Amino acid sequence: MIDMQEVIDMARAGKFEELAARGVQITDGKLEQIEGWAKPFFGGSRAHYFIQIAADTIGKHGRYRGWKAVCGAEATTHDKAPMFGMGSWQRCKSCLRKRNAERSADATVSLHTKDMTRQESRP
Ligand SMILES: [Zn+2]
Repeated sequence: MIDMQEVIDMARAGKFEELAARGVQITDGKLEQIEGWAKPFFGGSRAHYFIQIAADTIGKHGRYRGWKAVCGAEATTHDKAPMFGMGSWQRCKSCLRKRNAERSADATVSLHTKDMTRQESRP
């Protein structure tokens, strides 16, 4: 069993090769955005597209954040075990599908909005 604190310390020290040798997969640094492809420090083996839904609890490990993925997966993180960028993790297929569908819908809407704005700003 790997000691999580040790892993965090090693990751902070940049000892990624040593971690990989122990079978620990490395993510990108802490996710600073409130949404994005990410992998919680604990739990799961895939990156999901997480959206932060709560960040109003302070506990002994700092600020606690609640996350909900597009596919419905939920996660809680805190400052000692934060949400990380997806790094080398595989993306959740369900999140990918939903994101793709959403993105095409978004694109259509934003194009439409842009057209409207352009028309309105004409003298
Ligand atoms: Zn997912």
